[in-house]
Amino acid sequence: MARRRLVAGNWKMHGSLEQVDAFADALAGGAGERGDTDLLICPPFVQIERLARRAGDCGLAVGAQNVCDKAGPGAFTGEVSATMLADVGCSHVIVGHSERRALYGEDDEIVAEKFALAQEAGLIPVLCVGETLAQREADATEEVLRRQLGTVLAESGVAAFERAVVAYEPVWAIGTGRSATAEQAQAAHAFLRAQIAAEDDILANRVRILYGGSVKPDNAAELFAGADVDGGLVGGASLDAASFLGIAGA
Ligand code: PEP
Repeated sequence: MARRRLVAGNWKMHGSLEQVDAFADALAGGAGERGDTDLLICPPFVQIERLARRAGDCGLAVGAQNVCDKAGPGAFTGEVSATMLADVGCSHVIVGHSERRALYGEDDEIVAEKFALAQEAGLIPVLCVGETLAQREADATEEVLRRQLGTVLAESGVAAFERAVVAYEPVWAIGTGRSATAEQAQAAHAFLRAQIAAEDDILANRVRILYGGSVKPDNAAELFAGADVDGGLVGGASLDAASFLGIAGA
């Protein structure tokens, strides 16, 4: 079965309601060529509902960048639950982004909990995995990917990947302007798919695995050419509609 490509934007802590409107206007205007690529944008929490209202005419799915690791409702000041995200129009949520792991102390168990709660609320988790530069240089890339993906497989079971997306994001390539090579990306994606295939090879063939890390309109086609690369998770270059659509059309 051919997998449809998915290009997802992670706006991180950027934007404003005015920018959301401008972005939505550009997409609704039909700018750019998206072919048979699915599009997803994950803005900051406070911009989600505004973008979700425009999702239909933009041909866009809307997701969040993070979710609480407790089901709630409850006394979790400052947190947002998976149910709340679904309520404001999210279909997806990113879990395990390297910035959450590095800056906010999220370990594999917390990420696995968020993944499970997202699915319980009907959301599609976009599970980010990836090695640091030190880990790559120590030849530990596969060990790290096996552990990060394996914790979620152990917690939720392989069947959960029927409704999940995996994003391979080498930490050293995020926001650095230094992307992985197409060969490095394909090798990591094939490794991740093999981990899932070891438990269910039919399902492994259906799971979309995105590459993330300094994807731009001019390197997207090469990075997405790998047989196991099903699109991208894009940070900086997703803020501008023309550049995002340039990647989607690559
Ligand atoms: C990201 O934030 O997930 C990301 C890949 O960022 P960038 O595209 O800017 O490297």
